[in-house]
Amino acid sequence: MVQMAARMGVLGTETAFEVLARANALAAQGRSIINLGIGQPDFPTPPHIVEAACKALVDGHHGYTAANGIPPLREAVAADLWRRHRVAVSPGQVLVVPGGKVTMFFAIMMFGEPGVEILYPNPGFPIYESVIRFSGAVPVPIPLHESAGFSFSAAEVLDRITPRTRLIIVNSPANPTGGVVPRAEFDRLVAGLERHPQVAVLSDEIYGEILYDGAEHVSLLGYPSLRDRLILLDGWSKTYAMTGWRLGYGVWPEQLFAAAERLAINCHSCVNAAAQYAGIAALRGPREPVAAMVAAFAERRQFIIEALNRLPGVSCVRPGGAFYAFPNVTKLGLDARSLQNRLLDEAGVATIAGTSFGEFGEGYLRFSYAASRAAIAEAIERVGRLLGRLAV
Ligand code: PLP
Repeated sequence: MVQMAARMGVLGTETAFEVLARANALAAQGRSIINLGIGQPDFPTPPHIVEAACKALVDGHHGYTAANGIPPLREAVAADLWRRHRVAVSPGQVLVVPGGKVTMFFAIMMFGEPGVEILYPNPGFPIYESVIRFSGAVPVPIPLHESAGFSFSAAEVLDRITPRTRLIIVNSPANPTGGVVPRAEFDRLVAGLERHPQVAVLSDEIYGEILYDGAEHVSLLGYPSLRDRLILLDGWSKTYAMTGWRLGYGVWPEQLFAAAERLAINCHSCVNAAAQYAGIAALRGPREPVAAMVAAFAERRQFIIEALNRLPGVSCVRPGGAFYAFPNVTKLGLDARSLQNRLLDEAGVATIAGTSFGEFGEGYLRFSYAASRAAIAEAIERVGRLLGRLAV
């Protein structure tokens, strides 16, 4: 009998992939399934980006690249951060990796070990808590508040810091809530962190360009007092509809860069070369495709939030980012997981239970509105019919 390491027993998962598999299995049996479960843009990657990858392959870029990424891509990332945030980042601090998740995994594994505490948003992206446990550290949840547009409270974050705290993870705009943390809250957090110089921060800003109603994305890169302990996570998956390309980057402080690069060399060597050339085209190319996608999301957002609020027993706030609605379903009298399962099995609508994002997600469901308007309308009608049968 083979024996795995004990830590494999605490590794969690991302339920969205399980729901996707189950939704596909039901569809393969001939059932009509609308998938509002998976969090990825339903648009193809813009053509000029695809062409750049094809050209790279034809031009012979088939070998390993530098482990940290090709220089023109790291320069393009630095230029893009300047364009967006007016913050100077050295290309030498940019580590190109296969997807946003990799920066998260490296940062958590770099700091996590038994006896250490790591703070993470809850409800939040499930991989944070999973990898914290995998590292042996203790995950300490930061509650997000529906009444505050699913922001954290800086005072609550600071209260949770102990001598064992090594890393704090923040995510704005957020998955699964769409929450955007206001500048004043970040100001308070950063001011408080000046009293805790031993605590590093991982800021997951992968939805930073998907914003609505004039919501402002505040990058933690803009706070000089954090720069020597801030790890910025960003990438191409959401902004450029490139989830399957596996391309992301981290901006690492100088004191951590060599360690992060060493993890990359141990893990994946480098990102595939053609995807890196595509990444340059994305950052240096026209902004219109991104604007068009965000405009489409904005219209669907308006539609789904109003439609959800018309359902009996359901209420949905309007946070300003990402492409998720996170309605409160506590009045329906079913726990989130049972509701998720009944919606999929009986109504053919794939959603994700709030509890897939942590214990404070109970009472909520996540709907991704990165789907066509027609699909969203049909899904909400089906949800309405199921709620009618539940006699709410
Ligand atoms: N961070 C958050 C908050 C996400 O929602 C996701 C993907 O859903 C990621 C990171 C990972 O992105 P990638 O697909 O580039 O690994």
